[in-house]
Amino acid sequence: MLQRDERVDIQTSVKVEQDEIIVARGLRKSYKDFEAVKGIDFTVHRQECFGILGPNGAGKSTTIKMLHCFSPLTAGRLVVLGHSVTGDIRRIKAQLGVVSQDDNLDSDLNVIQNLLVYARYFGINRAEAHRRAEEALELFHLTEKRHHQIEELSGGMKRRLVIARALINKPRLIILDEPTTGLDPAARQLVWQKLRYLRDSGVTLVLTTHYMEEAAQLCDRLVIMNEGRILAEGIPTELVRQLVGYEVIELRIKPEESQMTLKLIEGRPISHEIAGDTLYLFGQEPSAFHTLQLPEVNYRLQRRASLEDLFIKLTGRGLNESQNE
Ligand code: ADP
Repeated sequence: MLQRDERVDIQTSVKVEQDEIIVARGLRKSYKDFEAVKGIDFTVHRQECFGILGPNGAGKSTTIKMLHCFSPLTAGRLVVLGHSVTGDIRRIKAQLGVVSQDDNLDSDLNVIQNLLVYARYFGINRAEAHRRAEEALELFHLTEKRHHQIEELSGGMKRRLVIARALINKPRLIILDEPTTGLDPAARQLVWQKLRYLRDSGVTLVLTTHYMEEAAQLCDRLVIMNEGRILAEGIPTELVRQLVGYEVIELRIKPEESQMTLKLIEGRPISHEIAGDTLYLFGQEPSAFHTLQLPEVNYRLQRRASLEDLFIKLTGRGLNESQNE
């Protein structure tokens, strides 16, 4: 029996709770005979920043394209903002902002015209469109550039303008594909700050990234995706603590030295992974490495466990060492 605050989307028979902005069940996508997304399930809740973290080729963009109704599903059920993506997608698109990977701005128009033309697609009247455009430009520190041509903007400015444009219809949900790829660290920080501001003002965000730091900085919850599958889901710090531990030691050593080192950690709360030329030791308790005497090596780094380690633990390779690269 349905509980209060639950309803069933008739077209898809997916049970959707009131605070669920996206419900994906058994989602699949094939390109001819290649299956890029292999049956994934996840739920995004209102006002959270939800991340899809994974290396290039993991299936992140393919998933995102299904979420914003750009690419049809091969199989599964997907409800976005209370409506099935196989139903009347205008009702989804009216409440949705999309920031795709390429800065698909119109270079024949200047900065503010790009926003005003976009507002027209949503049937927003001229006066209101101007008000919203100025507001979005101010939020993204672009007011002084309002009459500039697109080619006069830096990469960071273009990215901010694409995000500003996605705000024009006052969306409840914004979907961003690799929002800071190609930006320098300062430009990236500014985008992160603005995305956090949007989340705190009540917008739900879904983003893909292959930057571990981006996921750690922004995401309240995330899934780790690899080769079309979800390997883990949860709150970043909790996932790291549960699946990796507290501290990590990285050692660059020869295979024969690895065997010796592994003997030294026997019986201790330490797990390990070998990825490429590096042996990773994961301390599962705060003092796991206390009194451990490791051999002298050329490269040794001891640090706090991170999402990158989680990925190494799950797949045996680093986030940015994709097989597709
Ligand atoms: P990610 O965003 O994680 O880098 P994608 O979703 O872009 O991954 O791609 C997942 C896999 O699907 C890759 O192997 C990619 O080559 C393949 N792929 C993506 N788009 C297409 C397409 N239009 N036709 C054929 N294969 C595709």
